[in-house]
Amino acid sequence: MKEYSLVGCGGVGGPTGANFLLKTPKLSVLVDCGLIQGSHFAMQENETSFPYNPKEISFLFVTHAHMDHIGRIPKLVKDGFSGVIYSTIETRELAVYMLEDAEKLIAREASESHRESIYGREDVFHALSLWKTLPYQTSLDLSDIISVYLKDAGHILGSAIIEINLKEIGKKIVFTGDLGNSPTPLLRDTEIVDSADYMVIESVYGDRNHEPKDVRDAKLHSVLVESLNRGGTVVIPAFSLERTQVILYEINELVEKKKIPRAPIFLDSPLAIKVTSVYRAHTENFNEKVRDIISGGDDIFDFPGLEVVRNPMESEAIHSRVGAKIIIAGSGMSVGGRVLSHELFYLSDPNATILLVGYQVPGSLGRRIEEHALNVSINGQNISVRAHIEKISGFSSHKDSNGLVDFVSHSAKTLKKVFVAMGENKSATFLAQRLCDELDVDAIVQEKGREYKL
Ligand SMILES: [Zn+2]
Repeated sequence: MKEYSLVGCGGVGGPTGANFLLKTPKLSVLVDCGLIQGSHFAMQENETSFPYNPKEISFLFVTHAHMDHIGRIPKLVKDGFSGVIYSTIETRELAVYMLEDAEKLIAREASESHRESIYGREDVFHALSLWKTLPYQTSLDLSDIISVYLKDAGHILGSAIIEINLKEIGKKIVFTGDLGNSPTPLLRDTEIVDSADYMVIESVYGDRNHEPKDVRDAKLHSVLVESLNRGGTVVIPAFSLERTQVILYEINELVEKKKIPRAPIFLDSPLAIKVTSVYRAHTENFNEKVRDIISGGDDIFDFPGLEVVRNPMESEAIHSRVGAKIIIAGSGMSVGGRVLSHELFYLSDPNATILLVGYQVPGSLGRRIEEHALNVSINGQNISVRAHIEKISGFSSHKDSNGLVDFVSHSAKTLKKVFVAMGENKSATFLAQRLCDELDVDAIVQEKGREYKL
């Protein structure tokens, strides 16, 4: 019997840092190589060596361009990887901006703590030189051992579910990456996966269900109307990739249908502006409803009142603009970016609202705010939190617990094992239990570093 095995080197025991190693008798491949994010100690973890020799890896498949799936690729290359990287074209285009941005943040953080940066610009360029693209629904034969096929995950632009066929043993292993909360405002629904033998599935929301979409939309509407009518500032910390575009699209609808009071809306995220340009260039990936709106002549990412903030001076100047306004800024978990200066300014303002529209990892400032901390510290300054804290979970770009169970159900008859990963321990455990109980499949919480024979 030929030996095939799977090792979760990252993205196990926590939602970030996805990095899965698939060993076959002739070659080894990786799926994703992400940054561990959230806590102050994360950079030390990101600096540690990979638990395999990067020189011995033939291929790296990338599910999507979020940093917790791509952020350590330049380090992999720096440490000797010289194989081929594959993803969709959209993921590659987004990765150019995401990695450029990350490299600067990492370099700054390293110099502040007097450490060497984990990689430099040259490593980013080198990684991109190894990076090829593969369209959705196109089988690619990579050797007599494996072929690969990408399906639309519906999570962010370009996101893919990676199906790897192990040809010699006639088995299919599926890496879900992150799975979209379909139906989503912009993207197509997650494609169905059937006949998988093995599956590595994300579980960020494995133990919870999102609020229904009509509740989500009504809540966004009511929070904005109440806050703006009070004359307050609404700060929306939003991930530059996907969440910002979704929020822009939703506000575009509210503004054009005159459902919210007229107020300036600032898009204050250099990265989000670049990412939005990639979204504009790939509207063929949007769902039918959005494509119809676009072909009717509407620019879904632009509307009256939108002010695109280009530089830090313009960003600071927002604070002197009195009256109601909305500020959309990164980062989404308040671990850096321009949102910090807005939170520093508005968290203590009882008239302001911080509107959380995404997942907040434990250890992040966003999580402290979400948990209604009375005091927080930003750049060494203590702030008493007096602003209204609102949260809308329905904008999540991840499937909820019911969505994940439904996704797996299509392969329930053929699955030999499901490895539940990419979630906090309680989410992963809860999802694994549900899959066992409701679908009668063998589902386990994947353990970091453990080698599982396939
Ligand atoms: Zn993601």
